[in-house]
Amino acid sequence: MKGQFPVDRFQNIRTPFYYYDMELLRATLDAIKAEMSKHDNFMMHYAVKANANQSVLRQIKRAGFGVDCVSGGEIEASLRAGFPGSKIVYAGVGKSDWEINLGLDNDIFCFNVESLPELEVINELAAAKGKVARVAFRLNPNVGAHTHANITTGLAENKFGIAMRDMETVIAEAAKLQNVRFVGLHFHIGSQILDMGDFQALCNRINELQDQLERHHISVEHINVGGGLGVDYQHPNRVPIPDFHAYFDTYARRLKLRPGQTLHFELGRAVVAQCGSLITRTLYIKEGATKKFCIVDAGFTDLIRPALYQAYHKIENITSQEPMEAYDVVGPICESTDVFGKQRDLNACHRGDLLAIRTAGAYGEIMASCYNCRPLPTAIISDDL
Ligand SMILES: *Cc1c(COP(=O)(O)O)cnc(C)c1O
Repeated sequence: MKGQFPVDRFQNIRTPFYYYDMELLRATLDAIKAEMSKHDNFMMHYAVKANANQSVLRQIKRAGFGVDCVSGGEIEASLRAGFPGSKIVYAGVGKSDWEINLGLDNDIFCFNVESLPELEVINELAAAKGKVARVAFRLNPNVGAHTHANITTGLAENKFGIAMRDMETVIAEAAKLQNVRFVGLHFHIGSQILDMGDFQALCNRINELQDQLERHHISVEHINVGGGLGVDYQHPNRVPIPDFHAYFDTYARRLKLRPGQTLHFELGRAVVAQCGSLITRTLYIKEGATKKFCIVDAGFTDLIRPALYQAYHKIENITSQEPMEAYDVVGPICESTDVFGKQRDLNACHRGDLLAIRTAGAYGEIMASCYNCRPLPTAIISDDL
């Protein structure tokens, strides 16, 4: 499958860089739209934090999706890409005043509120502008996702959301305030979830909460179940598009929506992970005492997931056809965690070879840093080559 990379075009581009396969992104968006169109009340807000590259955002906008933002900067990036305020939802445990004001000025679709003090501040800032902010409450459903501990968010011990037992109190509080209007409930249990049982557990919990609200004659316009669908990091070639049918079907079957309710999703990783690769050049092959190191010019400043979450990314030598050899693929940064993979079988590597670190479209470029005074990686869009 080396044919998928225009290797000749890569030769004159300074490495490391992210390469986005826009054909795959479009195919992924089409697959999502095909599944969602089976349900007339489903809506998508793409989670911008996975990847805020302007070309990627513009492609997602063309699919008709809205966006889920977690900072003022993400709201600005989304506006720049052409998303109207009416298609922006804004979540996050720590919204500062300028960020809330930015949302108010752009009449965003909804603030996903994570605490009572935050609700009061939104009400105050909205009052100062003579506006009424639409708010949803993010509830912590205490549902565990079977994923890496650092990326589960829906357990009672996590910092996210409002405890379920406070649900009715905050809704009653919102009813007393003049400049906020309660419109929805929001949930998000974690990331890289491949077991549909986790989403089923969330559905069961939401059904219980809705029954409880119904007993108190409280109605909710929309339910937002967040994102979290995982991708196949082991097999990017065999499974380039996640199983969106299983995902949406789980919600369609398990979640009991009330008449007129809409169901909102906030997928991030599943939309963009597979279309991105980090392309890096081999600098040196070093023969260690017990193994060979392939030292490349990308480091964890370019892609931090392996160092941060012990994440697996498939690595391919896209310029060599020689027999396989095992390497530890490491970057140049002065930290022992700067390792992309240990004992990986690659076509024999030589100085100058290009490696593709796959499934890097989500939480890759956007998490890059300048540690060691390194420049940020650039991005190459397949449509532009
Ligand atoms: C991160 C996040 C998402 C997206 O998560 P993915 O695992 O990338 O799908 C959606 N909603 C909220 C509130 C988030 O914080």
